Amino acid sequence: MTAPRLEAADLGFRYDRNTPLLEGWSASFRAGEVVAVTGPSGRGKSTLLYLLGLMLKPRAGEVRIDGTPVHGLHDRERAYLRAAEFGFVFQDAALDQSRTVLDNVLETVLYRGGDRRTETPRAHALLDMFGVSLRAGAKPGQVSGGQAQRIAMCRALLGDPKILLADEPTGNLDPTSSDVVVTALHTQAARGAAVIVVTHDPALVERCDRRIVL
Ligand code: ADP
Repeated sequence: MTAPRLEAADLGFRYDRNTPLLEGWSASFRAGEVVAVTGPSGRGKSTLLYLLGLMLKPRAGEVRIDGTPVHGLHDRERAYLRAAEFGFVFQDAALDQSRTVLDNVLETVLYRGGDRRTETPRAHALLDMFGVSLRAGAKPGQVSGGQAQRIAMCRALLGDPKILLADEPTGNLDPTSSDVVVTALHTQAARGAAVIVVTHDPALVERCDRRIVL
């Protein structure tokens, strides 16, 4: 059997001086599935996404992609992997306020060593699909929270990621926009990605393939 797309094995993590958030935590995420991570506020769900997304290093245990341990790689290698293999949707969208919407969507191209000109049509197509195309020239300060969230989805999907990590991706959305986002999560899974979403949204949990409670 092939290795899971993404694995956490015996992960341990705490922020300095705090009680441990994770101890001996293990889970596997297969290509093709959309998994919901739920749990009370402050339990460590966002932190878990940072660990799975190689933005934090675990104090114990391993993170593996396709069976290869990646948590211990040097910063530069982890940064490249993040850009090449992952798509992230952060809870607050985390757009760069000083750049246009289009530049935000194209941000990861540089880190992947891709070509901005080549990827611009796909960026426009994604903005169009998520109903935020008219705002491509706007700055993120001029868009609503729900629009920012959809723009963050476009940025995450641009590189056709093998692993998509999304923190409350439907948090600010009306039902129609939510539906577009959930469909996009499943489309990316169908393209062979492992998709992991942290969410409190019962409608989204309902549409995930399975759920892990932290
Ligand atoms: P959740 O996503 O489940 O709400 P978080 O992962 O955001 O939980 O946070 C888990 C706990 O870790 C919380 O108590 C939070 O205050 C704490 N925490 C989060 N980030 C940091 C940090 N950078 N330094 C110290 N503590 C943090």
